[in-house]
Order: sequence, then C-alpha cells, then structure tokens
Amino acid sequence: MSKHDDLDTLFAQADGAIDAATGGVVPPIQPATTFVRGEDYVPLSEGHLYSRDDSDLTRLAERILAKAEGAEAGLLFPSGMAAVAALFRTVPNGGRIVLQTGIYWGTTKWARDFCARRDITLNEVEMADANARDSLDSSADLIWIETPSNPYLKTVDIRACVALAKSMGAQLCVDSTAATPVLQTPLALGAHYVMHSATKAINGHSDVLAGFLATAREDDPRWQMVVDDRHDAGAVLGSFEAWLLIRGMRTLPLRMERMSANALAVAKALANHAGVDGVLYPGLPTDPGHNLAGSQMNGGFGSLLSFMVKGSKADALAAVGRLKLFKRATSLGGVESLVEHRHTIEEAVPETLIRLSCGIESAAALIEDLDSALTGH
Ligand code: PLP
Repeated sequence: MSKHDDLDTLFAQADGAIDAATGGVVPPIQPATTFVRGEDYVPLSEGHLYSRDDSDLTRLAERILAKAEGAEAGLLFPSGMAAVAALFRTVPNGGRIVLQTGIYWGTTKWARDFCARRDITLNEVEMADANARDSLDSSADLIWIETPSNPYLKTVDIRACVALAKSMGAQLCVDSTAATPVLQTPLALGAHYVMHSATKAINGHSDVLAGFLATAREDDPRWQMVVDDRHDAGAVLGSFEAWLLIRGMRTLPLRMERMSANALAVAKALANHAGVDGVLYPGLPTDPGHNLAGSQMNGGFGSLLSFMVKGSKADALAAVGRLKLFKRATSLGGVESLVEHRHTIEEAVPETLIRLSCGIESAAALIEDLDSALTGH
C-alpha cells in the first residue's frame, strides 16, 4: 500500500474509531466537563476526570493527525494562533528566533509583539532565498518557516532549513497549513515540529477554529514544556469542535486531491489570461519553487494561490466585486472557494494581489467566474 492509500484509510475510518458502547460507526460526543467518582473515590472510568485535561475526541483527533504527520505526539489547540503561541512561548527570555518573512500576517504580528515583550531577538529572514539563509551565522533557539507561504506561495527548502537549524543549534518548526499532512510531512524531512491551522483544510468546512502542533520526538524537553503549558494553562479544544474536526478530516485526502487539481487548473487559466499580471502557485512549472515543491510535496500543491490583476488597486477591487462563485471572505481550505484582496487587511501586500482558496466546485465554473470578473462581462 502506498503512503497515500494509508492516509486515505486512516482519515476515512478515523483510525478505526467507533462507539464502543453501542457499536455506532461514529464516535459519540461527550459534552461533560467533569466525571463522577465511585464510593471508593476511584474514577468510574480511567482517563476521565475533568475535560480541561483533554477528552476522548481530542485524543482521537490528535492521534489521527499525529499518525498522518509521522509524529511521535501531537496536540490540538483552540486556534492555529494558539498552536503558534504554544511553541514560541517555550523560547526563554533573551533567546533568539528566526522567522520567515512574508508569511501569514497574524504569525508575524504576534511574534513581533511577543518577542519585544520577552526581550527575544527576532530575525526576520527571507527563508525561501538560499543567500539570505546563508547569511545567518549565530545561534538561535527556534527557526519558523511556512511553506507554501500565505499569501506569496513561496516554497522554502525544508531539508536546507533542517541543516541550518542543526548548524545554529536551533529547532525547526514548519507551518504546513497550506499543504496539510496529505501533501507534505515536514517531520519526515527532519523538521522538529510541524504546525497547522486546522481551521483551514484539515477541517475543511469553515465551521471550526482549531490548531495542531506535532513533534518528531515526544521526549524532547521543549515538547514537554508545550504539553505542560497546554495542560496547566488550559488552551484546549472543546468536544464539539473535536467531533466536527474528526468528521471533516474523513474526507481530507479526497478534498486535497480535488482542491489541488482545481487550483492548478485555475492557476493555468489565469497565467494565460490577458487581465492577469502574474500568478503565484508552486504547481505551475514556471514557478521558481516548482521543482523544490515537487521534491518535498506529494500528490499536489494545495488549494491556495495568488495572482496580480493588470492595472490598479481599483481594477483589482472591481474584479473581486464582480465574482459570483468565489465568496469575498478571508481564510482558506474550505470546500467553498474564497477570494481575498489581501492589501485591504495587510498593507504591505501589493494592491493588485488577489488571493484565492479553491474549493471543490467544478474547475470550469471557477475559471468562468474569474474570466467574467476579469473581463467585466
Ligand atoms: N498559519 C497560517 C498559514 C494561516 O493561514 C493562519 C490563518 O489564516 C494561521 C496560521 C492562524 O490560524 P487560526 O486562524 O486558526 O488561528
């Protein structure tokens, strides 16, 4: 069985979960926050005391995702940002973090504020550029990369960053949100940690906020800090969210296959469109990261792409306003296609850049929608 078939089965069957009490083919939701003890004061059921510790559904979702990532352990958080923060918080005051530039703005903003508060040196480096990576010489605690990156779709060489981390005595974490574990498994390439906004394609239905962090080694002291901090500080996912996440994940490999195919078809159509001034998508053979992405991704290049509208900011906004199928909303990875004029919420992004998250609609309908919006009829 290929790696892909294994993932298909793992996700479709939710790693074999059923309701042991009734034989139901779907695990039940247990909403209780607290659990009864017997007359002897022994808990009625082992592992069930108080739901801030964790819960059956959270454990199940974590097991599925950790297996998919080839991780020794993984933890869910109530949002992607909570997972980002959990790892950053392990860096000591006075430490040093290397952060890729041009990544998800929320990560950059939070990291800048956090590092300033804690007297941590933050080096923002274009990690997709080998020369910029080579200029790093001193030591660091943590290197944070995002590949493919949001919204520029840059591909960062994970293997090269593993080597860099080793030479700097640092640990490497990869935000692999845009790829999901179906298309990319950074731990297999030597990364120490992988992080996801599970709010995106892992859940896939734009109705759950969640984050996931996994480690190559469960006995890693930094991981132990993350485990203790999540347990003691209580950044846990609720049962309903975990249940929805497990349901969404059953179709993750299928959705990634379809969304990647749609994104590639859309990227190709846009690359040949007279109203477009460039397309950013690692799946295009002309993309500077194409060969690298092909060597570290498997089965597709994801649902996210960006393109530049020919003309001005007003032209870009007018085109976005004419779209009918692509919903004008932030986020990515859902079954419905979304469009975002990123400059509106992130000033540094070029005014004509449009970010698309391709869903599972027909590629022909998505391409027609974009063509009508770009040509104005
Ligand atoms: N990482 C990436 C690449 C993202 O796109 C996002 C959200 O857009 C996050 C992290 C943060 O995730 P969340 O919105 O679930 O907190």
